[in-house]
Amino acid sequence: MTQDQQLARKPGTPPPSLYAKREPVFNRRIDGKFRRLKWTVMALCLAVYWGTPWLRWDRGAYAPDQAVLVDLARRRFYMFGIEIWPHEFYFVAGLLIMAGIGLFLVTSAVGRAWCGYACPQTVWTDLFQHVDRLIDGDRNARFRLHKAPWGPAKIARRLLKWTIYLVISFATGGAWIFYFADAPTLQRTFWTGTADPVAYATVAVLTATTFVLGGFMREQVCIYMCPWPRIQTAMTDEKSLTVTYKDWRGEPRGSLKKAQKNPGQFGDCIDCNQCVAVCPTGIDIREGPQVGCITCALCIDACDRVMAETGRPRGLIDYATLEDAEAEKAGRPPTRHLKLIWRPRTIAYFAVWAGIGLALLFLLGTRVHTGLTLAKDRNPPYILMSDGAVRNAYTLRLRNMQSRPRAMEIAIEGLPGARMWTDESSRSQAARVLTRTVPADATRAVRVYVVAPATTPAQDFAFRIQARGEARETDRSAARFDTPQEATP
Ligand code: SF4
Ligand code: SF4
Repeated sequence: MTQDQQLARKPGTPPPSLYAKREPVFNRRIDGKFRRLKWTVMALCLAVYWGTPWLRWDRGAYAPDQAVLVDLARRRFYMFGIEIWPHEFYFVAGLLIMAGIGLFLVTSAVGRAWCGYACPQTVWTDLFQHVDRLIDGDRNARFRLHKAPWGPAKIARRLLKWTIYLVISFATGGAWIFYFADAPTLQRTFWTGTADPVAYATVAVLTATTFVLGGFMREQVCIYMCPWPRIQTAMTDEKSLTVTYKDWRGEPRGSLKKAQKNPGQFGDCIDCNQCVAVCPTGIDIREGPQVGCITCALCIDACDRVMAETGRPRGLIDYATLEDAEAEKAGRPPTRHLKLIWRPRTIAYFAVWAGIGLALLFLLGTRVHTGLTLAKDRNPPYILMSDGAVRNAYTLRLRNMQSRPRAMEIAIEGLPGARMWTDESSRSQAARVLTRTVPADATRAVRVYVVAPATTPAQDFAFRIQARGEARETDRSAARFDTPQEATP
């Protein structure tokens, strides 16, 4: 209703609803090369998603043997041979940034390929639409059943279908928990009722969301909820591939009968609506590019089949760029798809993506598995010993990022005449170098007392640790030694 119509509304009449009731989509089954591609990608995505937590990776006796594991309890992220500690979260941030730029790269090169083939919402919707076909039949049968009044047969079919939805939602959405704990153990405890309550709660939430989003909301998620279609508008340009109806070839559209009666007056589109009937989001691509099009290309399969049956060349609906559409309209040949992918914009995205990847690999290759942090006792800053010597206390945290216990030497750098001992020894055993063993894959706190001669002025020095026998595995941390003597300028 326009603003004028709103204003013209009679006093006392209720305002029109801003809510448009969802028109259910009963898309028809279609076979073709893009449908087969979708099957392949769906199988691959589900296999990777389901299979990954069950892959094993031997890290020795002190670390889990699950290849990919987000260990929240111990705050570790394992990915095959890589173990990320909390202070190395920049690796995870880097991977997320790479995933984001990768999406930009894919979108600018081949349009919404992510939405059409690999997005979880697409995969689940596709899966559930196949369940619909299996239980209720193809498009017309589903439409009839939808319109039919509720009765025992309809209730039985609905219950059966929703039960299958629920099983799929449980098996897929629920499988997410296996990324956060040892999968075989969690599976055992889950079924015996001894798993952590958080696991049951997570499975319940994920099953419910998969059931609702994939089973009932479907294309509404893509059209109204997901921000990605809006972001993609900024990502795509006139050189991005998108599913295009070639109106200059198809229009004016008319039925086959009309076209046969009036040769030369109609375009190639016979207005059979097959492209609309197979569309999982229920849109008509002949109305031009729109946010509801996830570029799954099923309408290309449908239209190619119609063109083959009517003896016309394929590609009335096809992948094309806006630039190509203009060129084809003007009778010029379209650009080769490979050339479209390798253009300055995609090369720039690829360069940034690869640059971040290389930087992460460099950091990974040069990271050390030893770390030292310290905290100095501030109150009091120093203690005068009975012989006049000055003592400062520190808490050192020695980090061993390898999956085996390691002996580490702690040494004082600078601070002439200073010695140290720990809670486990005494002043008589004080030395400039101590050795402590740090358990595998852990941090060990060590209380260190440093004593220096009475005449020592306040000054900076450092602690240095080195994993025994491993020259590269060292770390250093600056410290302050306080005394009653002012520092010499
Ligand atoms: S499937 Fe092809 S011929 Fe049929 S309506 Fe769609 S565009 Fe026209
Ligand atoms: S219009 Fe075609 S490409 Fe777009 S969502 Fe529908 S079937 Fe898929």
